[in-house]
Amino acid sequence: MQMPGEVTITEVCPRDGFQSLPNSIDSIDKIKIINDIIDCGYKQIEVTSFVHPKAIPQLRDAEEVVTQISRKNNVKLRALVPNLRGLERAINAGVDKVKLMLSATDSHSLSNANCKTVEAMDGFVPLVERAEDSQVAVSGSISVAFGCPYEGLVPVDRLLMICEKYLELGINDLSLADTTGMGNPFQVQKVIGALRREFPEMRFSMHLHNTRGMAFANAVAGLEVGVTDFDSSVAGLGGCPYAPNASGNIASEDLIHGFEEMGIKTGIDLDKVISVARSLEQQHKPYTNSFLLKAGKNSDLHIKPKGQEKLG
Ligand code: ZN
Repeated sequence: MQMPGEVTITEVCPRDGFQSLPNSIDSIDKIKIINDIIDCGYKQIEVTSFVHPKAIPQLRDAEEVVTQISRKNNVKLRALVPNLRGLERAINAGVDKVKLMLSATDSHSLSNANCKTVEAMDGFVPLVERAEDSQVAVSGSISVAFGCPYEGLVPVDRLLMICEKYLELGINDLSLADTTGMGNPFQVQKVIGALRREFPEMRFSMHLHNTRGMAFANAVAGLEVGVTDFDSSVAGLGGCPYAPNASGNIASEDLIHGFEEMGIKTGIDLDKVISVARSLEQQHKPYTNSFLLKAGKNSDLHIKPKGQEKLG
């Protein structure tokens, strides 16, 4: 089987992780954490979401955070935007890319955006036009693409329809989100295989939650059908305020370690990521979810039991 030699991982803890915590992190602490994340070697970071402060008070300091972190030229900053007002704020703050928020199913869309999926997409037209006048790139997303907590399995035809509409809007960068961790590897291969066959011009990325322990298997399934862009969250911090019982994203350290063990390069300093994860674990223990923080790396060899020193 042909596997890619390298992948790109986008760190989403500052958005998905911070918004899922019951209490807001102080802006000054967020800025420090994001600066530490930038220092790990990521090429892209999802820094925040420009939603209404009343909807997600944990991210009400979006402008302050984006403008005060220590940016590097080769590290792109992406932010979520729900509407034109959010886009305007994102442009003013100076992000590189925005991600539009959309749900695969009408039920999730109604609870999230107060309108059905296709209506939400119609609402993207003025956003795409506004972004074209700016320097900001636009990407799309499909939440609950691999299973909806209200409707269950999402038909492939529905995802094909949404994908086609995104291309009509001029968007060719699309994140497929397993928001509540309902996907499985065969499904990932079937769904993304079909999408890539139908729309080879679209660049698909995967946003995986580890709610049922399937996220790494799903990432490998994605690799096998040509996906090389993945989101993850340091310490596995994350959730979805609109999805009941959604637990954290796949932990960045678990994803990076797993890929590197497979010989797939991430370009990210795993030890630095683990160090950021450890400090997050100390502060927010009940909300973190990371195998590596418990077990360590494969290369962290244990001292052999007494009497076996000569076994080599
Ligand atoms: Zn998420």
